[in-house]
Amino acid sequence: MEFNHYFNNQELKSILHEWIQTYPKLTTLIQIGESYEKRPIWLLTITNKDTGPDNEKPAIWLDGNIHATEIAGTTTTLYIAYNLLSKYGNDPHITQLLDTSVYYIVPRVNPDGSELAMAANPRYIRSGVRLYPWEDKDEGLHQQDVDGDGRILQMRILDPNGDWKISSLDKRLMEKRQPDDYGNTYYRLLPEGLIDDFDGYQIKLARTPEGLDFNRNFPYEWKSEADQQGAGPYPTSEAETKTLAEFITKHLNINAIMTYHTFSGVILRSYSTKPDDEMDIEDLWVYKKIGSIGTQLTGYRCVSTFHDFKSHPKDLTYGAFDDWMFDHFGAYAFTIELWDLPTMAGIKDRKFIEWFREHPHEDDLKIIQWADANAGKDAYVDWYSYDHPQLGKVELGGWNNMFTWRNPPLDFIEKEAARNLPFAISMGDLLPHLSIHSLKVTPLGNNDYKVNLVIENTGFFPTYTSQQGKKRQSTRPVRADLELPDGVIIINGKRRVELGHLEGRNNKLDVTAIWGAASTDNRTRVEWVLHGPPDSVVKLSVQSERAGSLRREIILK
Ligand SMILES: [Zn+2]
Repeated sequence: MEFNHYFNNQELKSILHEWIQTYPKLTTLIQIGESYEKRPIWLLTITNKDTGPDNEKPAIWLDGNIHATEIAGTTTTLYIAYNLLSKYGNDPHITQLLDTSVYYIVPRVNPDGSELAMAANPRYIRSGVRLYPWEDKDEGLHQQDVDGDGRILQMRILDPNGDWKISSLDKRLMEKRQPDDYGNTYYRLLPEGLIDDFDGYQIKLARTPEGLDFNRNFPYEWKSEADQQGAGPYPTSEAETKTLAEFITKHLNINAIMTYHTFSGVILRSYSTKPDDEMDIEDLWVYKKIGSIGTQLTGYRCVSTFHDFKSHPKDLTYGAFDDWMFDHFGAYAFTIELWDLPTMAGIKDRKFIEWFREHPHEDDLKIIQWADANAGKDAYVDWYSYDHPQLGKVELGGWNNMFTWRNPPLDFIEKEAARNLPFAISMGDLLPHLSIHSLKVTPLGNNDYKVNLVIENTGFFPTYTSQQGKKRQSTRPVRADLELPDGVIIINGKRRVELGHLEGRNNKLDVTAIWGAASTDNRTRVEWVLHGPPDSVVKLSVQSERAGSLRREIILK
């Protein structure tokens, strides 16, 4: 399999269909919905079907490409899926994982937006193609490929009041004009595009007619357009987000999610809307612990969106998918922003958002030099003159940012996907699992039998996943059920017993051995006295939404 590749919708469809032929025991492919333009949204379920159905096992959710241009997310989820499938049976770790757990994978949430982004004459929109909030085009400059070369670059125009000048470090680069800089040659920079309703003087940057942002359309802290750009008319108003919501609300076995975006090379965790000290402290500790594993495995830092990834210091992000998954379901949710061009160029530990507002101009030189050496000749386009139908003589050039900034250049995509595989596997290791610690049948005489059952959770997460999950009552406590054959009756106990929730290892993070003693709070016991003929078979099932279900036969003897 070649993963230095961006998969279009046709290729995505055929690769998924190929995999269900090659790996029938491990895969199920369903179309969980369709996009606004009626393209299928595929969900690949990966688990060993011989060890039980997916909905009776704990699960991880992975998705990619909810934002139109962030197509590296699709390649990454496919890469992870392929590695799980092809290593099953050879790699004992992955084999055990797929025998006991489930991966739900939606490689492409947004087939319409990606179709546009990957077109021969591309357009780069935020999410979906539905016109929103208005059905007519906003006046002003609309970004598009005006000279028909398949690239959307920048335009520079000589202007004494411009805020850019040609860099002293590299004449292709533009350097910011400093506040006290006078008497040089200046330029105005604009996106390559055409101006709707141009009066010959004023250029306003028009809002994209396709103004939706699917990742602001989820129910948690949803706010209307006035407070959150791209929010949509109401939560899950869009075909794509509704598709996810309908699947997820019917699959309470999901304990954690990883949603793959670009870019920045960072693992984002909840919340977007509030600081860490307004979060449950136990959950925060666990979030940080998982984040540190993620950092170790991917090399990406893990930060709270609120604290370190706000697009503007005073703006919050509302209606995001990860916050919804964490806040309403208690599932640990990570938004993984793949790929970071400045990091590749050797700029370490930059402040993710502030860097764009303020950084040494030498950084720009490092980045262009890296791109020259690694990203192909089209990565940064030297300025060339162009006769713009509205603006006259301009120059086109600058970053061709689809495969430099937004997504890795082709030679780098597989490597970027690969560094994310171990973290996706590790997340599987954290899932809660029900297990029978012991099951004893003791004859009491007169065809009476005492049944003693001890159930435990062998996982890291508890059977309610997080304190937030418990608070939201998003899952039921563990239950044990007996199915009695004719002739067997219960003398003591109930046919259905609620066992409460079982803790995991997540509440035992203290690393100091002198304080580190902990109780067996991951274990519980239930006892019945049954009466019936010897060798009668009683069916036992133990169920948990998050930790899976167990089925056993109890033989009275
Ligand atoms: Zn994104």
